[in-house]
Amino acid sequence: METRIIDGKETAKRIRIELKKEVAGLMEGGLPQPKLSVILVGEDPASQTYVRNKIKACAKVGIESESILMDADVTEEKLLDEIRRLNEDPSVNGILVQLPLPKHISVDKVIQTIDPIKDVDGFHVENVGSLTVGDGRGYIPCTPGGVIELLKRYEIPIDGKQCVVVGRSNLVGKPASLLLLAENGTVTICHSHTKNLTEICQSADILVVAIGRAHFLNGSQIKEGAAVIDVGINRTDDGLVGDVDTESCMGKAAYITPVPGGVGPMTIAMLMKNCVHAYKRQHHLL
Ligand code: NDP
Repeated sequence: METRIIDGKETAKRIRIELKKEVAGLMEGGLPQPKLSVILVGEDPASQTYVRNKIKACAKVGIESESILMDADVTEEKLLDEIRRLNEDPSVNGILVQLPLPKHISVDKVIQTIDPIKDVDGFHVENVGSLTVGDGRGYIPCTPGGVIELLKRYEIPIDGKQCVVVGRSNLVGKPASLLLLAENGTVTICHSHTKNLTEICQSADILVVAIGRAHFLNGSQIKEGAAVIDVGINRTDDGLVGDVDTESCMGKAAYITPVPGGVGPMTIAMLMKNCVHAYKRQHHLL
């Protein structure tokens, strides 16, 4: 079987072009430019890169952006005050606090302080609730949103298919499972206590892997003709690698996402999509 590589970089570019047109169209009607505010606490190099890439993506789509830098020893209250200020600022449509945060700051408090209508990461319990009941009102977390978008754009059917998600984090595994369920997939969620992982993975028409262990799964553990979506990003001596050993799946999987260049670029594209969604909600265009 020929394995088709799912090109996340190209798909993300196409989404940005679509959004750019949409934003330009909205502004022609005399509306202000959409705006995303990103708060970065501390100087973690990986976080700095993520924030830089988000700001760059905003420029490509026509979204105004600002990065607000805070010292690593900033108090929790000062950070919460800054979020409250952005909540009140009508020119700001999206607020994102780059994670991880220093240990003395409660991630939960930070996320729950963001006004849910501006929570473009989709982490606030109100948005998580929307996703769970499937009312379509909230924001879908960007990485799992990117997984579903790739499946749809590559016309990989989900309805009635066996979908296995390995990983159950609030960031990726759980929302990915809910999204697959909403598309009428039959979903199994695996985690570190799962006993017969290989057997379950071998039953998957769609296998989403998000655990954070380099090359944890290989071609012998997948079903012939499966679509394998590798969310993992692991830094190794050989560079960035996924949770799946891609090479060993070639010729057996029908589709596979590479790392890098698969799910990664989609995350920021979906953030841009959420920013435009937030803008439209705040201007009562939805
Ligand atoms: P977490 O560490 O929060 O969660 C990992 C999950 O994997 C947990 O549910 C854990 O189970 C499960 N797990 C760990 N070991 C095993 C095992 N041996 N067998 C089965 N399940 C296991 O990670 P995230 O969800 O935040 O991220 C997962 C990966 O995705 C990471 O590599 C991360 O870098 C990447 N990522 C990529 C993004 C992108 O843009 N492409 C964005 C976000 C993350 P348990 O709950 O039982 O502990």
